[in-house]
Amino acid sequence: GPGDADAVLAGLDPEQRAVATALHGPVCVLAGAGTGKTRAITHRIAYGVRSGVYRPQQVLAVTFTARAAGEMRGRLRQLGAEGVQARTFHSAALRQLQYFWPRAVGGEVPRLLERKVQLVAEAAGRCGMRVQRTELRDLTGEIEWSKVTQIVPEDYPAAVAKSGREAPRDAAEISRVYGIYEQLKRDRGVIDFEDVLLLTAAILEDRPEIAEQVRSQYQHFTVDEYQDVSPLQQRLLDQWAGPGASLCVVGDASQTIYSFTGATPDYLLGFRSRHPDATVVKLVRDYRSTPQVVHLANGLLAQARGEAAQHRLELVSQREGGPEPVYTEYPDEPAEAEGTAQRIRELMARGVRASEIAVLFRTNGQSEVYEQALADLGLPYQLKGAERFFERPEIREAGTLLRGAARAGGADTLAVDGPELAAHVRAVLASRGFSAEPPAGSGAVRERWESLAALVRLAEEFETQQRAAGLPADLAAYVAELDARANAQHAPAVEGVTLASLHAAKGLEWDAVFLVGLTEGMVPITYAKTDEQVEEERRLLYVGVTRAREHLSLSWALARSPGGRAGRTPSRFLDGLRPGSAVRGGARAGGRAGVEGGTERSGRRNRGPVKCRVCGRVLSEAVERKLRRCEGCPSSMDEALYERLRAWRGETARAHGVPA
Ligand code: ATP
Ligand code: MG
Repeated sequence: GPGDADAVLAGLDPEQRAVATALHGPVCVLAGAGTGKTRAITHRIAYGVRSGVYRPQQVLAVTFTARAAGEMRGRLRQLGAEGVQARTFHSAALRQLQYFWPRAVGGEVPRLLERKVQLVAEAAGRCGMRVQRTELRDLTGEIEWSKVTQIVPEDYPAAVAKSGREAPRDAAEISRVYGIYEQLKRDRGVIDFEDVLLLTAAILEDRPEIAEQVRSQYQHFTVDEYQDVSPLQQRLLDQWAGPGASLCVVGDASQTIYSFTGATPDYLLGFRSRHPDATVVKLVRDYRSTPQVVHLANGLLAQARGEAAQHRLELVSQREGGPEPVYTEYPDEPAEAEGTAQRIRELMARGVRASEIAVLFRTNGQSEVYEQALADLGLPYQLKGAERFFERPEIREAGTLLRGAARAGGADTLAVDGPELAAHVRAVLASRGFSAEPPAGSGAVRERWESLAALVRLAEEFETQQRAAGLPADLAAYVAELDARANAQHAPAVEGVTLASLHAAKGLEWDAVFLVGLTEGMVPITYAKTDEQVEEERRLLYVGVTRAREHLSLSWALARSPGGRAGRTPSRFLDGLRPGSAVRGGARAGGRAGVEGGTERSGRRNRGPVKCRVCGRVLSEAVERKLRRCEGCPSSMDEALYERLRAWRGETARAHGVPA
């Protein structure tokens, strides 16, 4: 009943509640990072469903990434609103395309082009152009930009001139390559990522009866991260949400970070004029970050210029005070990575979970040195963006094994009371060499282990949930859950420090965030030339800063490699924000050399005094130094982390009838 639905509103402030209860008609939420936009729309959907106003299958929640979609489905389930579609533009469009292609066009949907850059290279070759590999990426980027901004090949030269965008080559040449690329795709019967949206929009526009059918299915739409919608996505949204539909969009113009791909905050900022009857709500209370983090975020925005900056909203932290952001200058990149890994280890020793820590960088190429540094200290990590959990070989293999075990009649013997089923998942994996303890050492082996461990954890959670709901929790049910999650790309959380690009981090949050490589040339990146491009880089840093709940670290290195020329300077965006003297990081011999301009340095590493990894006290006793822990310290982070894993080993052994 309605009283039941009201429970969904309990965790919201008055403005968020206004969003959640405006179930009909256009709603637009303009608000800064961490103010609860995503939370407000999630609760709005749950309120709509639980009050009986929305039928779950009539709701489409559009999110920016598959991961965000998975998280939203999880939250909705917790709020008692299952069955709602939460998808990216792309996945929603692809699903529709598959559904109505046979009727609209005939046959099956063409295959998705896998090697786009290669096809662009071929097109360039046919134009008699010689292009380098890096240039190819730029060319591909231009074609993608043209498609999402709906520019056909012939119009490219005029459009690029008008946009103020710098074309990587002669515009007429790019226009020719683009035309031939489109032709090659048609000849081979393949479509690219952008075509999925283009074709869906085109079919809906051309075939009113199909559009009618789609519109009668979905009635209620929410769009998260609306500041980064492209003209092509907007066109699709216009087709989906007909005149009678209810549309709710949320966004933050200060977080527009994809305009280089054709996204624009214009639709967010112009929403009210397009929908004069819209309910417009502003949120300013920041629930995510400490006042210290919020202060820095506000400081960054205060220096922003340009169109989006006119719509900035000062954030007000709702949280208790925390540590000040830490600024660290390192002599070189390996020292920065090593120093970062050490600080991560200290945080973990103080009880911060690895999955609550992120290292964020500007380009994916920066990731490797951090992977190495974390692996050196034996710390688990996961790469974001590259994840595709269910496609990992170890996960596919595990799936096959579990399915086999479920079919082999395991199901009836496993459906017993007590914490056994999860135990059988462990047993099945153990039979293929999955150890209860994480392997020591290197990255890839450790990553593989962490993803299997995530499967086991998922089994435990699943079992608890199913039992609480009085539902079957046997192996067959778990395998079905895995399949459902794989279809929905809803990966379980893998325990480990997240390594991600700033772009991939939007919408997410962690207790501790390390923003690394903050030098001129990285943030802003060298190729950001126009004022608008530089402003987008500043917004990217704002997105990074606002991912942190509590601990925020900002660092940079003066040289690329040890002994290299120390010519780098910290990002201009930190001017006036960072204290006059940053901490000098890097315990390497001659660590200050870079700052003073000299570069002579011995290669020998001096790691400084040995400190307890739990309390940080400098250790003097030889035994304690070896253990890196003082005698008095009750538990180390390793123990805390691996305690559960030891328990698994015992249970796995028992499942095999072996005394532990
Ligand atoms: P971003 O712009 O980064 O996407 P957002 O505006 O979508 O941020 P959310 O992710 O929804 O913000 O919320 C930020 C954090 O604050 C989350 O941990 C959320 O659970 C919490 N939060 C939001 N609103 C409230 C509230 N009313 N009470 C308590 N916690 C809240
Ligand atoms: Mg959000």
